[in-house]
Amino acid sequence: MFDNTISFAQQKDKEDVLKHFRSEFYFPQHNGNDAIYFCGNSLGLQPKNVNAAIQQELQDWQQIAIGGYLHAKNPWLYYQHNFSKPLAKIVGCKENEVTVMNTLTVNLHLMMLSFYRPTKEKYKIMMEASAFPSDQYAVETQIKFHGFNPDDAIIEIAPKEGEKIINEEDIIEAINQHKDSLALVLFGGINYYSGQLFDMKKITAAAHKAGAVAGFDLAHVAGNVPLQLHDWDIDFAVWCSYKYLNAGPGAVGGTYIHERYADDINHTRLAGWWGNDEATRFKMEKGFIAKPDASGWNISTAQVFNMVALKASLELFERTDMKTIREKSFELTSYLEFLLHQLSNINFEIITPLEPERRGAQLSLYFRERGKEIHKKMIDSGIIVDYREPGVIRVAPSPLYNSFEDVFRFYEILKNFNQ
Ligand SMILES: *Cc1c(COP(=O)(O)O)cnc(C)c1O
Repeated sequence: MFDNTISFAQQKDKEDVLKHFRSEFYFPQHNGNDAIYFCGNSLGLQPKNVNAAIQQELQDWQQIAIGGYLHAKNPWLYYQHNFSKPLAKIVGCKENEVTVMNTLTVNLHLMMLSFYRPTKEKYKIMMEASAFPSDQYAVETQIKFHGFNPDDAIIEIAPKEGEKIINEEDIIEAINQHKDSLALVLFGGINYYSGQLFDMKKITAAAHKAGAVAGFDLAHVAGNVPLQLHDWDIDFAVWCSYKYLNAGPGAVGGTYIHERYADDINHTRLAGWWGNDEATRFKMEKGFIAKPDASGWNISTAQVFNMVALKASLELFERTDMKTIREKSFELTSYLEFLLHQLSNINFEIITPLEPERRGAQLSLYFRERGKEIHKKMIDSGIIVDYREPGVIRVAPSPLYNSFEDVFRFYEILKNFNQ
């Protein structure tokens, strides 16, 4: 059903219902043309509407200063209210279950402070082996913070000997096996290295059966793959906004908390005034009264300049939906896979699962040798992708702005690499 010709790729672009989004983004340039940007899994491109959105906040600050909290075009006091609706649709939850604040790893710590409540018997955390380093550091130090030993308290699930992706049955089995000591199951929804998408519903059900909490890091999932966090009964999730959500470097992170906790104003947390009920926040009195939703975990004043690009970016997402994005992504990444299989001049293995339901946009190409050298050749040819030790080039066509022609041009450049 695919063809390795430019005319085929151009025909696919013509039929693409999301094709209009491409012109909403700035592409880095290479020799006067758009670079082939397949790095949206690390840093999404800048939406063109961000500039005006930042100018608006600058102007309100310049002209009315403190008045901006109530009278800016987008009042800063309620700035976080802008995000609940679009994000709830993107991650599949109720509006009271989602908020934006801080950044990913900080939120992971805050969520663990609330939901990792170890006892002498149940204190272990299960995660994927070789998880993203920041997540590993967060888990290791949380465990130490509670007085446990990471070597004993972390259960890592690795691929079977000689394999590159994790067998999901191994996760379920390990959860059952460790049910007496397991407190928290914490996985990346998509592993950043292999691109493997996990069955979060199944993992959550197994965790709950074992009396453990299920949390997910959705850094590589939010804006990439549709989610049903509420229906899957996930306890908490965190993500960053600068990957598939295109909100710029260090943008505000997102947090989901299931309403069974979000509604509970007495749930354990570390608090600050921004999580306090707005009616009493400015009375400056003793006694924290949490807002009865996920924003009850907010701590500090809304970081408007850290949130404004996400606000602009989500306006684009509001013009489509995750189902449509996913449908294009299936096609786009499958086309990439098809073309990669035609190459015989370079040696690599696609370690990402080949079933589209078990991956997002990204394909990870594993080079037993010469990976770095080939990565450099790609960069020199105007292809922007990244290299992760050991030996993996990650290639992620982002469905919102990448085209089938991008994928074809990528293939054509690789086809001309010599042995
Ligand atoms: C990108 C990413 C991070 C980055 O965390 P920050 O706190 O935003 O720096 C953490 N974990 C995973 C799995 C990631 O993919």
